[in-house]
Amino acid sequence: MDVVKTNIDTAAPAHAEASILIIYTGGTVGMVYDEKHHLVPFNFSQILQKVPELSNFKYMLTVLSIEPAIDSSNVAPSDWLMLANLIRDNYADYDGFVVLHGTDTMAYSASALSYLLENLEKPVIFTGAQVPIGRTRTDARANLISALQIAATKVNGKSIVPEVCIYFHNLLIRGNRAKKVESRHFNAFKSENYPLLAKAGISIDFYESAILPHPEKPLHVHQQLDDNVAILKLFPGITPQVMRSVLEAPGLRGIVLETFGAGNAPTAGWLLELLEDAISRGIYILNVSQCDEGRVDQGRYETSKFLLNMGVIGGDDITTEAAITKLMFVLALDLPATQTREMLASNLRGEISI
Ligand code: ASP
Repeated sequence: MDVVKTNIDTAAPAHAEASILIIYTGGTVGMVYDEKHHLVPFNFSQILQKVPELSNFKYMLTVLSIEPAIDSSNVAPSDWLMLANLIRDNYADYDGFVVLHGTDTMAYSASALSYLLENLEKPVIFTGAQVPIGRTRTDARANLISALQIAATKVNGKSIVPEVCIYFHNLLIRGNRAKKVESRHFNAFKSENYPLLAKAGISIDFYESAILPHPEKPLHVHQQLDDNVAILKLFPGITPQVMRSVLEAPGLRGIVLETFGAGNAPTAGWLLELLEDAISRGIYILNVSQCDEGRVDQGRYETSKFLLNMGVIGGDDITTEAAITKLMFVLALDLPATQTREMLASNLRGEISI
């Protein structure tokens, strides 16, 4: 993998209003047509040809392009660590970061980065597009321009959004609350169980009470994620063989158990035994609701009380994307069991509302 750097020639005066680093990772946003009318990755060093409006900004803009570009369906935890380290290495030189990324796994990547970048005090705004930048009706231009503006906005000399966020189709969403909900229309993301951080109309309105406070400590970039995790979605009719194949996977350390409603599961004896056995082998089970607007409340019904009693950890109102990346992050810290359980149940980066 290579990282290619280009400075964009904007109208920035000697003392620019802000300096922003754009990190292009890949995805539809960066696609153009070649002579044979095939979609191919665009060379971001020529971004001004596609988004000439950038030259009006009084910002210093630099682009780092990851080569080869990654379709976000191929994103892996190693890419999240690489992105976190690119931000760490450039942190002192920029006021904010805009990450251009495919939409398919953007919510996973934004969640992972929210955990890796502890005590973040500058904006890291993920954005992308549903229609390639090379097409006339592209949404890439509007998404990029507003994401840059958000990354550059300060109040009393400090970034207004010191968070990892997703900006898409007029909405600014906390990254670990985002979910991709559309693959055809422009409104690809929604914020689950949490208010928007900002909305772009004629002006960009920030909802400051929803935004995380500035940290008191310096940035700490974590260097490890543990991928010995799985997502197990329950459904009526799930068999012991299927459950066992997941729970007994070699090396498994944690699972996100996607349950019904407020965190409920079938009460069949075999299911109880398999879960209890997994917990006794040191596997952490994080209970996440299948409902989009769901909140796990273990113990409210008989069908979740047994999960609580055996030591399944309630995921509260977390999304599956934020839960699986939280497991990867917390398990990599290799803490004693009680602390691991406490961290999994607590609010680390605004991903749950306790
Ligand atoms: N497959 C593409 C990706 O996620 C889709 C997109 O960018 O919207 O990389």
